[in-house]
This record gives sequence, structure tokens and C-alpha cells, in this order.
Amino acid sequence: MALIVQKYGGTSVGSVERIEAVADKIIGYKQQGNDLVVVVSAMSGETNRLTELAKQIDPRARGRELDVLLTTGEQVTIALLSMALQKRGFPARSYTGGQVRILTDDAHNKARILSIDADNIRRDLELGRIVVVAGFQGVDADGNITTLGRGGSDTTGVALAAALKADECQIFTDVDGVYTTDPRVVAEARRLERITFEEMLEMASLGSKVLQIRAVEFAGKYNVPLRVLSSFEEGEGTLITSDDNEEDSVEQAVISGIAFNRDEAQLTINGVPDTPGVAYEILGPVSDANIEVDMIVQNIGADGSTDFTFTVHRNDYEAALEILQNTAEKLGAREVSGNNRIVKLSIVGVGMRSHAGIASRMFEILAREGINILMISTSEIKVSVVVDEKYLELGVRALHDGFDLADDSEE
Ligand code: ASP
Ligand code: MG
Repeated sequence: MALIVQKYGGTSVGSVERIEAVADKIIGYKQQGNDLVVVVSAMSGETNRLTELAKQIDPRARGRELDVLLTTGEQVTIALLSMALQKRGFPARSYTGGQVRILTDDAHNKARILSIDADNIRRDLELGRIVVVAGFQGVDADGNITTLGRGGSDTTGVALAAALKADECQIFTDVDGVYTTDPRVVAEARRLERITFEEMLEMASLGSKVLQIRAVEFAGKYNVPLRVLSSFEEGEGTLITSDDNEEDSVEQAVISGIAFNRDEAQLTINGVPDTPGVAYEILGPVSDANIEVDMIVQNIGADGSTDFTFTVHRNDYEAALEILQNTAEKLGAREVSGNNRIVKLSIVGVGMRSHAGIASRMFEILAREGINILMISTSEIKVSVVVDEKYLELGVRALHDGFDLADDSEE
């Protein structure tokens, strides 16, 4: 018998009919002999609706009262789902975050979980009950209601699974797993049977928004096996685990997926003095303006000066350009330029660690398509390039093809 924590997202509990369908699904797992703790989101659109109501009162509404408001969404779904389970003759009990005692810090709207008191849940499970917990919420040391940030129910699920030492945390959503790349761009994209936490983090931070990034970090830290699967279709989904439980895959693929990010912009400052402190003088004001910098490249110039290029989110492009122009005047730089029509393509895979020549293979594939690379950056399990946005689809398809990702023979 296994202990499973399941999380159902907003779409999965988006109507009374869907809540009834989720109840049937849960009972199926229960009848297979599993102990179940179920975390639910608010009905789809509900958190947005509540946020909108708050904005009508005060456009800047945030903090404690906003949390009191937003957590009502999940309180509705835990009660309805518990009723649906009870109606089917299965004992179930709903808990708000505060009732479990999911203790968080006091950072309203983006609180972090500090500890979970799992005693009540354990007692219910021993009595044969199905436990239903409101996602996205907790309580601080003074009893104030807190929320974990948008999409936070994933984190609730993972944190409960860690606290209960569950065998698996299953995230039910509207996609049936994690794909080698976005199927809207590459029709042959393939669902991955498994992927490591590290790879998933790279894929997620590069724009594959299947799971809240924090939930993946949490799962990795506490080594909670995480499975993404569809609420609406049968299937195994994608299992996200650590590197070391790969004994059954004989030949691991070198590259697991192709990620991409459309929202990039590039800024360049030419001819700045090549002296200590220049990087700080250029990037300090950018970070002071709360603009996140992604890739950074500095070239060594022949004439004692240097060129500096970095990328930011496209929304921050204008603001960053203005800051850079000021900096250029101060430093006596030769020129500032920018380009907000660029995208980032990345290949991701833990297999890179043990295989040489992966980056050059990537460059070869892109060269064959006549795609000019503007910037390159690498990490242990990822190679990213910046290219003109007109090459996004072509580049992703070429890489997916070139690394044989559509071929599932290794599974
Ligand atoms: N209901 C919250 C949101 O929409 C939390 C969640 O669904 O994960 O962000
Ligand atoms: Mg969600």
C-alpha cells in the first residue's frame, strides 16, 4: 500500500461536474489500496476573479487582507470535493492550510512554508479517511492567513508529500506530461517517461510552464518523486526524480528537451574602459531598477576597451536601454545598441555531463539551417543560444530533429 499525495489544479475542479469526476478518480486510487491526501486549487478563474474584486476596491490591494480574500477560493473546492467523496460512501475530511497547520513566514502574498504539522492528517489516514487540503495557503506564527504566490498549490502538494514521506506526489493538470518541446511548435514532440529535477528546473525556467518552479525545487531538495499527469486522460504522465534512480533506463538520452523563450531582449554597450569595476558600473544600476539580467557576455577588446552584451526580459527592454544610455555617458562609452526581436533556444540534458561535443553538434545543426547565433551560454546540463526571433520555429524544429528527440527507441 502506498501513500500518495495528489494535487488537482483549477481546470480539473473547474465545475461541479469536474469535481464529481475528480472524486471518482480519487476513489479509483483508494480502491487500489492507497492512502490518499488530495490538494486542490480554486476553481479555474476564481483566483483571478477575487483579485479583480480587490482591485475594484483598491488597485494596490495586497498583503494580509488580500490573502484572506484569495484563500476563500480553495476553501470552496475542499468542501465540495469532500462532500462528493462522502456522497459516494467514502469518509473524507477537508482542511484549510491553517487547520493542518502549514506554518509559513509572514510574507503575505508570497509566503514560504516553514513547517507542516502532519499529525492530524496521519490520524485521519489511519482511520481510513481521504484527506482533502486547500492548496496555496498557510498561516503565520501569529495565526494570520498567508498565501504562497500564484500557482502555489503545486508547492503545497510537494510540501505535504515531503512532510508525510509520501511515496509519490502526483500533479494532475490539463496536459498529460512534460514534453521534449512545445507540441505546438513541433508536432512530433514526445512525452517524456521521466526527467530529472535539474532538467525540469531548466525546462521550467526556460518557459515550459507545467509546474510552479518552486514546487520542483522543493521536490528536488526533499527528493519527493513527482509525477505530472492529465486529469482528463488515462496515462502514466512524466515522472520527475533525482538522477540516481535511473537504473532501469539502459541507454539514457543525452538531450532530454529543447526549451525556448520568446520574451528576450539584448542590449550592448561598446567601447567601455577595460578596468576593474566596469561590469558592476554597467549592471549595478540595472539590478537596482529591479531588472533581471539573464545572459552576460563581455569581450576583450584589442585597444584596452571592452564590449558588453546582456539580455533582459522584453518588458524591461526600454527601461534597461535608458539606464544603459546614462551609464554610457558616464563611462564615455562609444555606443549603445539593442535588439528586442530575439529569442533564446536551449538544449537541456543531464547526459551532457558525460558526452563531449554536444554544444558543437548544436551549432552545426543551426549552421545547416543558416541560423546566425548572436550569443551563447552554457551550464553543466544546458546550452543556450540567442538568435533572431524569425528563427524560433525553424531552430526548435531543427534541434528537435537533429538530436533525434522524436525517436522514442531509447525508452
Ligand atoms: N489558486 C491559486 C492560483 O490560481 C493557486 C493555484 O492554483 O495553484 O494561483
Ligand atoms: Mg495552478
